[in-house]
Amino acid sequence: MKKIVIIGGGAAGMTAAAAAAQNSRRANQKSEIWILEHKDMVGKKILSTGNGRCNLTNEVMNSDCYYSENPKIIGQLLDKFGPEESLQFFREMGILVKSKNGYYYPRSEQAAAVRELFQIHLEHLGVKTRTNVHVKSIKKDGCAFMIHAAQSISAKETLSIKADKVILTCGGMASPVLGSDGSGYALAQSLGHSLVPVVPALVQLRVRNNPLKRAAGVRTDGMVSIYENHKLMGADTGELQITEYGISGIPVFQVSRHAAKALHYKHPVRAEIDFLPELSSKTMTAMLRYRQKRQDNSCISEALLGIFNKKLIPCLLKNAGMKPDLRISELNEPLLQSLVHTCRHFPLTISDTNGFAHAQVCAGGVRLTEINASTMESLRCGGLYLAGEILDADGICGGYNLQWAWTTGYLAGLNAVSDKSRT
Ligand SMILES: Cc1cc2nc3c(=O)[nH]c(=O)nc-3n(C[C@H](O)[C@H](O)[C@H](O)COP(=O)(O)OP(=O)(O)OC[C@H]3O[C@@H](n4cnc5c(N)ncnc54)[C@H](O)[C@@H]3O)c2cc1C
Repeated sequence: MKKIVIIGGGAAGMTAAAAAAQNSRRANQKSEIWILEHKDMVGKKILSTGNGRCNLTNEVMNSDCYYSENPKIIGQLLDKFGPEESLQFFREMGILVKSKNGYYYPRSEQAAAVRELFQIHLEHLGVKTRTNVHVKSIKKDGCAFMIHAAQSISAKETLSIKADKVILTCGGMASPVLGSDGSGYALAQSLGHSLVPVVPALVQLRVRNNPLKRAAGVRTDGMVSIYENHKLMGADTGELQITEYGISGIPVFQVSRHAAKALHYKHPVRAEIDFLPELSSKTMTAMLRYRQKRQDNSCISEALLGIFNKKLIPCLLKNAGMKPDLRISELNEPLLQSLVHTCRHFPLTISDTNGFAHAQVCAGGVRLTEINASTMESLRCGGLYLAGEILDADGICGGYNLQWAWTTGYLAGLNAVSDKSRT
């Protein structure tokens, strides 16, 4: 009987286990499928996804929604097992879904239900789940693997488990309290893999001498652009959140991986905020000129009150080099242009991210060129499969990272039970 051991019972690991068990049943094969998970339950991270609602996947799905050194492989994998196949997989598990503008959630909008149904499904399929087991090392022993694990990360006493195939689904190192502590990278490296540098992604950004500090707590529509060495790396529009330490919100999350990568290489990183992305500079200039023509006697901060959040206005004026009590009638052409420029290109120096502890995912990981893009089997170590966030692929917000876990997990599980692998 073939024994397949899955290391890490997160989204990718549970999908791999279900796919392996389902397909070995279909093929009338006798396989023993194990999950080793060091947390006290499988799927702990799923509970926190989508603010407790679990954004499972997205209607718009292609490799442009992901970053990697080898994005082409991502498209090939999504073609094999994409959102449609994933939704069918969930239906078979008893999970009905609903779409909110193309973003798929469980119908119950309960991430906890997704986790629980996965666990029930795995039990039903006869998958042996061992929680509170931390895998310390994996050694290839002829055609088989020897896995050394312990009851906790610090425990000295180890237990040894032999496996015919290993699926490595330990995740990355984002939100380590949820289980992904980065130990999977060392396991992959010990079996011959190399890593694209791993940095936090989908994370808040910290700003040096934050010129928006006085506006902490403000939520405002805006566009954030990230520049590395003056080169535009990415931009996104939506609701920005201004904080004491810097900037947050979905658009910041979307571009944060560019900042994190640049900071990793110690390159200067600048953000620019357009606080009025829906209007052109010409329109904003015309609006202010109209107020002047009406011989409006108000001061400049009052003139901006109907456009920007009140807490934001002093920050904008300071950056434009203006006193808040400047009369609008005194606004000469250079000052007017400086104000418009500030509102459209508010400059921030990015000093850091909020780190792995606050990141939703990691950018970087095991190189996709070291994986067979049809089967997820390692090209460095036959019989080893890798799936999920441990790999060098990070998606934007919107269900893309879980989809990556479903896609790669399913393909790894399916192929690990088939006899075609290279061991
Ligand atoms: C707060 C938050 C919200 C998110 N929301 C969404 C969302 O709505 N939609 C979306 O698409 N993505 C979301 N993501 C991202 C998504 O959850 C991850 O990309 C996805 O869970 C990765 O799956 P994985 O199985 O590869 O890794 P993980 O889910 O991290 O699972 C890895 C598992 O391996 C275990 N493990 C690690 N090392 C060892 C070891 N040495 N021995 C034993 N076990 C080990 C861990 O405990 C963990 O259970 C969110 C992430 C966070 C943090």
